[in-house]
Amino acid sequence: MSETWIRGGKVLLGERFEKRDLVVTDTSVYSPDKGAEPSSSADVIDASGLYVGPAFVDLHTHSRTPGKDGSETPESLAHAAVMGGYCSVVAMANTDPPIDNVTVWEQTKKRFEQLPVEVIQAASVTLGRKGERLVDMVSLKENGAVFFSDDGDVISSARVMKRALEYSKELNVLVAEHAQDAELAFGAVMNEGEISHLLGVQGVGEEAETIVVARDLELNRVVGGNLHLMHLSAAGSLDLLRYARSKGISFSSEVTPHHLLISDDELATFDTNYKVNPPLRSTKTRNRLKEALREGLFDVVATDHAPHAKHLKEQSIKEAPFGIIGLQSAFTATFTALMEDIDLDGEKESYRERALASIFQMMAIHPRKILSRFTSAETISNSYVVVDPGPETSQKESDLVSLSKNSPYIGRNLSGQVASLIIKGKVLLKDGELYKEGGFS
Ligand SMILES: [Zn+2]
Repeated sequence: MSETWIRGGKVLLGERFEKRDLVVTDTSVYSPDKGAEPSSSADVIDASGLYVGPAFVDLHTHSRTPGKDGSETPESLAHAAVMGGYCSVVAMANTDPPIDNVTVWEQTKKRFEQLPVEVIQAASVTLGRKGERLVDMVSLKENGAVFFSDDGDVISSARVMKRALEYSKELNVLVAEHAQDAELAFGAVMNEGEISHLLGVQGVGEEAETIVVARDLELNRVVGGNLHLMHLSAAGSLDLLRYARSKGISFSSEVTPHHLLISDDELATFDTNYKVNPPLRSTKTRNRLKEALREGLFDVVATDHAPHAKHLKEQSIKEAPFGIIGLQSAFTATFTALMEDIDLDGEKESYRERALASIFQMMAIHPRKILSRFTSAETISNSYVVVDPGPETSQKESDLVSLSKNSPYIGRNLSGQVASLIIKGKVLLKDGELYKEGGFS
């Protein structure tokens, strides 16, 4: 039996932190009696001055398995997840070939089975992700698939989307949408606005997202299925979410760390590590997204971790693929975004704790809640992460453990660090370093 003592940290209880010790085993978690000491075989983590909460769960990861372009392997993906404090990630279905039938879904799932991190494999909504005919959702569900998405592409047909939502209700599975009108986005490489005009490159406006969000919410008002809106990036989407909530329409939504932290002016240097879909928006919209996060409008922060090998990202801004990596930096990027522009002097400490508590809600507790409606995934219990809000570090390419290095944060100062990760009582990460090689040697 694995047993780890996390000592002296501030532990998340509800929405607040309280100083106490925690003992995490592979089957349970508890606070030890006063004066109790760990056994000689137990691991001990000193969390004095640090914050402890449930390990992170990512609803939006691109594993690139199966795939042929050398962007990521199951092992490098798990390594990046561990460094980022994640115990579970949902792997998207836009692979090569796409995950659109039981055989590929099962084969792919097997590739992840030996990893310390749980990978929940999504299936696509339509065959070949072409947006035309639904996959066999019944068989996929019978075999254990609960997360369906054509992510990378929108489901263009309202008829197909409505049918998918009807199945989501019938089968109790989740349908996740990449909300972006394909015709409006055609040929675009970035956000449409001042910067795209200045650079003379084609942009896509925020309305490409909001019209699909409006459509899907309206469809689900009628259907009452399980709809998840991915990587929202448009100010107009926020008003739609508020409206849908007020009408009792069922949905969940996510925002990415990069849409909270960086804006489209970074593209001025034509650096393809800022080319992502949906695109980085204006600073004004970015600030609206941050306010919405603070208001609690989004359910989750999800990474949209999208590795691309160097030779692919080293093409021109037009040719390079969309996507940036994000698992390893998600906590620090989100924390940095929430802490910037905050000038509270005396209240900084309490603001910082509130920011950390809301990050735990959005990166650990809400994603678990969403998944637990559909699956009893095991790893997500008895897994804890310890974070250190203190250090400010400048990210170096050599720090990145993903096989791909397409991070928009290289050279940027970020606040906070993921210190330790315990999965089912077993220490994977300790003081920012892999523990006992973590199985990735
Ligand atoms: Zn997407």
